[in-house]
Amino acid sequence: MNQFALLRQHPELIYFDSAATCQVPDVVLQAYTDYYQQHHANVHRASHQLGRAATTALETTRAKLAEFIGASAEQVALVASTTAALNGLAEQLPVQWQAGDEILLSSAEHHANILPWQRLAKQYELTLRYIPIDRETGELGEWRELLTPRTRVVSVTAASNITGTVFHLQPLLQAAKAKGAWTLVDAAQAAAHVPIDVHQLECDALVFSMHKLYSVNGCAVLYIRDALRDAMAPFWVGGGIVQRVSATEAELIDGIHKFEAGSPNTAAAVAAATAVDWLQQQHLQQQLASLRHQLVEELQQRAWLTVLPSGAQATPTISFYSDAFQAFDIAAWLDQHHIAVRAGHHCAQLLLQQWQLPAVVRISLGAYNTADQINRFLETLDAGWALFG
Ligand code: PLP
Repeated sequence: MNQFALLRQHPELIYFDSAATCQVPDVVLQAYTDYYQQHHANVHRASHQLGRAATTALETTRAKLAEFIGASAEQVALVASTTAALNGLAEQLPVQWQAGDEILLSSAEHHANILPWQRLAKQYELTLRYIPIDRETGELGEWRELLTPRTRVVSVTAASNITGTVFHLQPLLQAAKAKGAWTLVDAAQAAAHVPIDVHQLECDALVFSMHKLYSVNGCAVLYIRDALRDAMAPFWVGGGIVQRVSATEAELIDGIHKFEAGSPNTAAAVAAATAVDWLQQQHLQQQLASLRHQLVEELQQRAWLTVLPSGAQATPTISFYSDAFQAFDIAAWLDQHHIAVRAGHHCAQLLLQQWQLPAVVRISLGAYNTADQINRFLETLDAGWALFG
């Protein structure tokens, strides 16, 4: 708590919305402002010292973020967000689309990993298939029959942003690869909580936004395996990725930098590298697992609400609903008591539709949360039930 300026300014606030975005520790904000105060210049094309220093800062960050997921720097593009990366992948995957080709997603996808595919599907008359999520266990449901000879892409989330379930993706990705499909992983919810090794996962691409890992907005990691990187065109084109331009044609560079046309957000990248260092020093896994356990145990004792299932492995994200209250009313009551939670479909409407739930309340925990805060939250919840239930 002491390390977060925003939380110091609002000591009464209980922030339970880290799955949406994390609060930013002082060291990360400091790295961001230091960059602008001491090193700021545009990268790659500068013929002066400051520009070279900014380039080094960007490339050092790339190497660190690559190492964080077991990749090499030549496999990591720094882009603006998970949403931007998924849109780019959907548009530029090297597939000769034929009507009737299939894309396999899961019902737990965030809209960022649904809408780009829907748009593509309309354009080429493709079929979208969705792996159901088991209502009892929260795990991926049966997918083997959904993987067919027409499957060209499998794009799935590594963890649900509603239940917190960390999906066991390896068998699915391996089977998809064996069928010749491109395999993409949305690690936006997983990256802060689960060690990621892209080689073990055997995915062709993986993406996550650094603002969910205690950094600032504007930097996301896009891992692209060599074969896909070399076969895929840039998502957008312009300065910084050109070898030669004529009046009608441009010859582009090869390699990972072709995915970074234009001036990059170097300050956000530098902050992201600091955030990864900070996160690795915190050893949050045990603290958050124990808070999650406390919260789930307590919530399950309240007969007036139902906790959604999460799988064998889960991030510290928990959702529940009540037949007695609207999710939005619960969130508003908590907000009145300075407890920030989320209510709604959480940009993952398909899961709630599959489970026939209109809206749920989501609590997502972060580095700054404590057992006392959970107790205060439960007391506030109980006070609401006593008053209105
Ligand atoms: N995918 C998942 C699973 C998410 O939880 C989110 C954000 O909530 C996104 C994608 C989109 O991330 P961003 O808004 O940073 O692009």
